Amino acid sequence: MSVAIELAYLIASILFVLGMKMMNKTKSARKGNRLSALGMFIAIVATLLQIDAISMVEILACIVVGSAIGLYYANKVEMTKMPEMVAIFNGFGGLASFSVALSDYFLRTEVNMESIELVTVISIIVSVFIGGLTFTGSLVAYLKLNGNISGSPITFKGQHPINLILFLGFLTAAFFTVLDQTDPMLIIILIVIALVLGILTVIPIGGADMPVVISLLNSYSGMAACATGFILNNNVLIVAGSLVGASGIILTQIMCKAMNRSLVNVLLGGFGQTVNEAQADGPSITVKEIGVEETAMLFDGVSSVIVVPGYGMAVAQAQHVIRELMEQCEKRKIDFKFAIHPVAGRMPGHMNVLLAEANISYDKLIEMESINDEFPNTDLVLIVGANDVVNPAARNNPQSPIYGMPILNADKARTVIVCKRSMGKGYAGVENELFGYPNCLMLFGDAKQTITKVVSEMKEM
Ligand code: NAP
Repeated sequence: MSVAIELAYLIASILFVLGMKMMNKTKSARKGNRLSALGMFIAIVATLLQIDAISMVEILACIVVGSAIGLYYANKVEMTKMPEMVAIFNGFGGLASFSVALSDYFLRTEVNMESIELVTVISIIVSVFIGGLTFTGSLVAYLKLNGNISGSPITFKGQHPINLILFLGFLTAAFFTVLDQTDPMLIIILIVIALVLGILTVIPIGGADMPVVISLLNSYSGMAACATGFILNNNVLIVAGSLVGASGIILTQIMCKAMNRSLVNVLLGGFGQTVNEAQADGPSITVKEIGVEETAMLFDGVSSVIVVPGYGMAVAQAQHVIRELMEQCEKRKIDFKFAIHPVAGRMPGHMNVLLAEANISYDKLIEMESINDEFPNTDLVLIVGANDVVNPAARNNPQSPIYGMPILNADKARTVIVCKRSMGKGYAGVENELFGYPNCLMLFGDAKQTITKVVSEMKEM
């Protein structure tokens, strides 16, 4: 039996790796997701076959309740609320590892009164630390993102020294736990410090850094699961945990690079607090407006168009009407492309997913590095609900919090039209000087409603 179980775990692990590999390409991503889900199903069945401590009825009841809650929320969640959803999932992942580690500790020390092997004690301590920190850190991230607590960085004097003291306190308590595994006071100290550190490390982080932290917490939840795998001697948990841990770190690095920020800089927090707003925003801006009819006429007379989608397109759900706009342009033999910034929207790949949902072919979506040189030779750029990712302050204003972030050079096109509802700022909270440029025209209104009107004007031409 145990050979069959190990074989099932091996197959599950291979399916996870293959599934993740297929997720590298948009075309095979769905298949990869299904393959990984099959791997998870095999792993769950193999685990259930080994269980004797609790009844199958209890387990199935928990699976049904958990799956029902998961299904309900996964169907209900809007695309723009995905980061909150991921945050809460990470938190529960951390909590699961934390709880398993603690139950294993108390079972061994209180019930069986046995001394624990060194590798298991260390795994329990690691799992309590990362799992506890991930749980409370993710809860804070969730509350910040859904607006229950301020999304801005919350900082106070002595924050970093306090964190350091707590961390050193954790290491000391961990050292004594290794020496004396039966002292429950020590494990309580470890629990409290891990939970408090989770809160204290996430509260100073805010603004555009939040998605980076969520990706990092995702990686932590994987590492906690991996440590729990060592406690339970469960190979598939070790493999799956390592995969989540490693991919989370890679994603975190990609986001940091796209925002030109170091991970240490993100973790120290206080994004955008070092500069005063006037300096960061630069001089006040006077804009020129354009109406729906004039926009349609402009589209009618150009030969190349690049659309820059951003978070506002996701909010307005304007992707389908943008496909109609593309069809109208293609009828007129206009060269039509999309410029995709790596952090446009609220999570990596956000724009790609939405545009794919509207049946826009992948080869129309061009990454920032490839399309940036094309802007100067483009007649018309339509920016739909994007802001920070086209803000030239990232190139020109060293005082700006987004200075140094690579941006789409949309401002270099012959004409730029920005479709957004107002002069409202983007996620980073800074003014966009592009809106005042001589080649820039503001098309105010909800992206879906406004572009629908532009398309119907074009249909009548
Ligand atoms: P953004 O800077 O957040 O700006 C979005 C704009 O959309 C807003 O200025 C808003 O202006 C407009 N908008 C909102 N609802 C709209 C609607 N219904 N119709 C039309 N416009 C609407 O977005 P972004 O340019 O995509 O930049 C993403 C930001 O998130 C960056 O700061 C990035 O660093 C950050 N971030 C993203 C990721 C990621 O993985 N994607 C990760 C980390 C950080 P109005 O209110 O005036 O309409």
